[in-house]
Amino acid sequence: MEFRDLKKQYQMLKNDIDESVIKVMESAHYIMGQEVGELEQQLADYVGRKHCISCANGTDALSLAMMAGKVGRGDAVFVPDFTFFSTAEIVAHIGATPVMVDVDSSTFNISIEDLENRIKEVKKEGKLIPKVIIPVDLFGLPADYERIEIIAKENELMIVEDGAQGFGGSIGKRKACSFGDMSTTSFFPAKPLGCYGDGGAVFTDDDNLAEVLRSYRIHGKGSEKYDNVRIGVNSRLDTIQAAILIKKLQAFKEYELDRINVVARMYSERLENDVDVPVIPKGYGSSWAQYTIKLESCKKRDGLKQFLAGEKIPSMVYYPRGMHQQTAFTELNLSDDMYPVSSKLCKTVLSLPIHPYMENEDIEKVCKAVKSYIKNN
Ligand SMILES: *Cc1c(COP(=O)(O)O)cnc(C)c1O
Repeated sequence: MEFRDLKKQYQMLKNDIDESVIKVMESAHYIMGQEVGELEQQLADYVGRKHCISCANGTDALSLAMMAGKVGRGDAVFVPDFTFFSTAEIVAHIGATPVMVDVDSSTFNISIEDLENRIKEVKKEGKLIPKVIIPVDLFGLPADYERIEIIAKENELMIVEDGAQGFGGSIGKRKACSFGDMSTTSFFPAKPLGCYGDGGAVFTDDDNLAEVLRSYRIHGKGSEKYDNVRIGVNSRLDTIQAAILIKKLQAFKEYELDRINVVARMYSERLENDVDVPVIPKGYGSSWAQYTIKLESCKKRDGLKQFLAGEKIPSMVYYPRGMHQQTAFTELNLSDDMYPVSSKLCKTVLSLPIHPYMENEDIEKVCKAVKSYIKNN
């Protein structure tokens, strides 16, 4: 059993994907070929944003958003403590200070109460200027943007949605990657919409930000080819990856997102009396980047992981460390008691295999194994 079966997906889409990749190779437009623009239009339409600016990966997408937002030294950027390293890394990389915020134990997303407290603290201390909130749509579930938008407005903060795992999620009619001033996603192969290498995108409705983002991603280009008007980076999405993504987006829209929701529902129906299953608030939709359960203790979590491995069922701990526990952030002097929820999640979460091509038989096998471990431990 695969944790996320990318081989099976390729077998299903092989004819379409092979054909479009070969077309790019024959065209020799390997950089910024026409497929890049076509994909950007399709992605913008899907999420409901005016502009999509594709780039080399999800980390660069966040960095580009920081550059366009003029974030830098002396700025405080609020990020959830329980996330992939990139979210906090890009803040420090641009010279600003990441302020880690504890998370909500039921949704795994940024805690609204703690966000309000941290903003107050930063203002009271007076050393940093509160500038941006980067909510993360962890495991495919959008953060609570309705409340985050109110806080951002009150405190004059920008919102940059980290939708690396969120693509396909929703709140009511609003889709993930359409929240905030800018939103970003990643096409890393194992993300909800993945390509066959690295890829990413930034979305915005703001014409000026879009223009600046398009400039930053190609060496700060101006309107003439060799006129560079700002210091940028080289961060483009390969034409071949765009061609692959056009085919994969079609499958994602037609059936993958629906099917992965069926898989998640089957898991929850079978496991809800045995473990803490993921909570999807009313009106929210998840794209299930991960299906993550919570166990009573670290001992039980580690025990279950080992038991599943014995049954040849892969499982993963996302994440074993919060941002406050990362060695690279030692100098921020953060401790577990400042992040009680995140610290506990690191010890008790376990992500089970999930993908749109998972057979019912495999879902039953995983559930049976989890139930049997819980019954005997
Ligand atoms: C994967 C991920 C990223 C980074 O994306 P890459 O394409 O791997 O650079 C950023 N944030 C979150 C929450 C992620 O899961």
